[in-house]
Amino acid sequence: MANSTSTEIIACHECDHLHYHEPIPIGAKANCRYCGNLLYRHVSNSLERSLALYITALMLFILANCFPFLSLELGGRAVDTLLFSSGWAMYQLGMGELGLLIFITSILFPLIVIVGRLYLLIFVRFGTFPPYAGIISRTIEALLPWSLVGVFMLGVLISIVKLQDLANVIYGPALLALALLLPVYTAARTSFSHAEFWSQSPVSMHELKQDETEPENRYTCHSCGFIQAKSDSVQRCPRCEASLHHRKQNSIEKTWALVIAASVLLIPANVLPVMTVIRFGQGEPSTILSGVMKLIAAGMWGLALIVFIASIVVPLMKLIILIFLLITLHSKSVWRPRDRTLLYRVTEVVGAWSMVDIYLVGVLSALVSLDRLSTIRPEMGAVFFAAVVVITMFAAQSFDPRLIWDNVRNKKQT
Ligand SMILES: [Zn+2]
Ligand SMILES: [Zn+2]
Repeated sequence: MANSTSTEIIACHECDHLHYHEPIPIGAKANCRYCGNLLYRHVSNSLERSLALYITALMLFILANCFPFLSLELGGRAVDTLLFSSGWAMYQLGMGELGLLIFITSILFPLIVIVGRLYLLIFVRFGTFPPYAGIISRTIEALLPWSLVGVFMLGVLISIVKLQDLANVIYGPALLALALLLPVYTAARTSFSHAEFWSQSPVSMHELKQDETEPENRYTCHSCGFIQAKSDSVQRCPRCEASLHHRKQNSIEKTWALVIAASVLLIPANVLPVMTVIRFGQGEPSTILSGVMKLIAAGMWGLALIVFIASIVVPLMKLIILIFLLITLHSKSVWRPRDRTLLYRVTEVVGAWSMVDIYLVGVLSALVSLDRLSTIRPEMGAVFFAAVVVITMFAAQSFDPRLIWDNVRNKKQT
């Protein structure tokens, strides 16, 4: 698409090829012809629909946080827990860092995303482009990968199944609100059209000359997708004020450093116990693997499989894929760029699901703190495991898949 000078062009986030923003039927998606990445979808009344969904999400979020979501009845006594409790329990048990991680990813960040999007959408609804749209959008984009409502919900479901044989679990109203929040929040996110939102901005794109469509001759804003010719005087995006780089800065070095750190931490995460379950005064610490074995011994095959995949397979697979991708970048490989981009996308999407084990430990610790007879408490291994999950997520984010395609383009030129 090098011969286009249309202003209606977009650059693919993952391979940096340019495309026309062509009209597609309602409900359809447009994917990149080169790497298969989702470019945009056509949602009818995208911004209005998104506004309605975010308002609903905010109401459900408030309900989910104000009422008890699970209660545990044991020996005639009941313990109510709020969503907030799982992070708080971790803090009280001396694992403040884990408590904070649970609190920000399950409550604080989703709330900031919902309120931030509402701010942007309400202004647009009343016909004005919101002030500070750039910084607010960038904050939302940065927090989105860490807003893990769905993963938290899975952690809660696993806790319920695990607790069935220990005590009587009573479902609170917040659990229903949380279960409804998940699809509403997801729909609100997917119906928000970035292109439609930014098209309301008073700053519009200039037409590109033919040579300016080449990747090395233009800047594409990582945040809002604004495309402009490269010049030394331009440091920031004129539309959203994000700082401009041709590619993510020091992507390869950063990703290597994070991958190595995560690989080292993977050892204590798997060797040290992640939690201790004490029942009737007896119990011993269990590691991730011994926890899976106990689930199998108890006949909970499905649960054992979920925990095994999320806690052992996914982190290991992510590290192996990232190391493989980094090596292919070093060797300037042009081998199957589309498949390698797909591999990268997989690591980005699945990584957060490993957090399920941390949520599981948090919810269990909050619920089962009745007395000395039955207690579940987190152990040091959980901290190392959380560090592995967080660092591998940062590693996936710092990797720039466009470097894969730069090698392909360089090869074609020579
Ligand atoms: Zn692409
Ligand atoms: Zn921008």
